[in-house]
Amino acid sequence: MVKDPGPVVIGATQGASCMGAAYEYLFNMDKELRKRKVRDKVKLYWITPEPYLGNFGIDGMPGGEKMLKMFMKMYNIEWITDASIEKIETDRIVLKNGEELPYKMSMLMPPFEGADVMKASPKLVDQKGFVETKPSYQHVKYDNVFAAGLAVQVKVPFKIKNTPFGVPKTGYPSDVTGKIVAKNIARLIKGKSELYEKEWGKIPALCIMDAGHKEVYLFANHLFKPRQFAIMMPNIFNDFGKILLEKYFIWKNKRGLAWLP
Ligand SMILES: Cc1cc2nc3c(=O)[nH]c(=O)nc-3n(C[C@H](O)[C@H](O)[C@H](O)COP(=O)(O)OP(=O)(O)OC[C@H]3O[C@@H](n4cnc5c(N)ncnc54)[C@H](O)[C@@H]3O)c2cc1C
Repeated sequence: MVKDPGPVVIGATQGASCMGAAYEYLFNMDKELRKRKVRDKVKLYWITPEPYLGNFGIDGMPGGEKMLKMFMKMYNIEWITDASIEKIETDRIVLKNGEELPYKMSMLMPPFEGADVMKASPKLVDQKGFVETKPSYQHVKYDNVFAAGLAVQVKVPFKIKNTPFGVPKTGYPSDVTGKIVAKNIARLIKGKSELYEKEWGKIPALCIMDAGHKEVYLFANHLFKPRQFAIMMPNIFNDFGKILLEKYFIWKNKRGLAWLP
């Protein structure tokens, strides 16, 4: 790419669900191309199944679309929303609307699916390999089967008009549901019948999106609407917050200090 630069297409396929991670890749790609002094020779495209920039599979955040549009224009990135891919050839991506995007390099995020071990248990999971659970994260039919994190089936809580996409199952809700499952198993062992419950959509949204030399903080009291509090704040000076969070998270878990926030 550096020796012989050409167009780059970054994005998420129809049915993908963790668009935030693909946005991170996009802005880091822009940063890397600038660092290697070839950015002016590369046409950078972003394609997404979202109906608008910054939907993120959670029906957006206040000011999110405006902020992402500003970033795209500032960094000279062309974008296509509501994009559905028809086929991927060796040198071009063909969209269902007939549009063709030539590429020298591409990264497209596929839909999340359950692990093979889950898909090999068809009585427990849906077609994608996810487990339908109650708010206690017990299987809807089998009380002695639990699921947490990515393994949980989470339905999109709003109407999708055109291109399909899913709900993000990120680190924080995975952590929260994992802890609920652990506490509930302990309760059942102790003979208690009242279990902890928290619907996926009511877990707070806490996220830092890396964006090259910058980052965006996302906070909301609920992942899904209705929310009483939701804010998206850019830090355009550095990406120190994400690095700090990563170091803290790994430090905490390596020492078994999972009770820390
Ligand atoms: C590219 C990318 C970027 C992301 N970035 C972010 C981010 O910036 N912030 C964020 O919050 N989230 C992010 N996420 C989402 C985050 O990674 C997930 O939410 C999280 O990893 C889910 O945790 P989990 O434990 O449920 O599943 P996983 O992390 O997938 O863990 C499941 C584990 O089970 C193991 N396993 C599978 N089969 C078996 C078997 N048969 N026996 C034993 N073990 C098995 C797997 O090896 C795996 O280690 C990102 C995801 C992707 C793909």
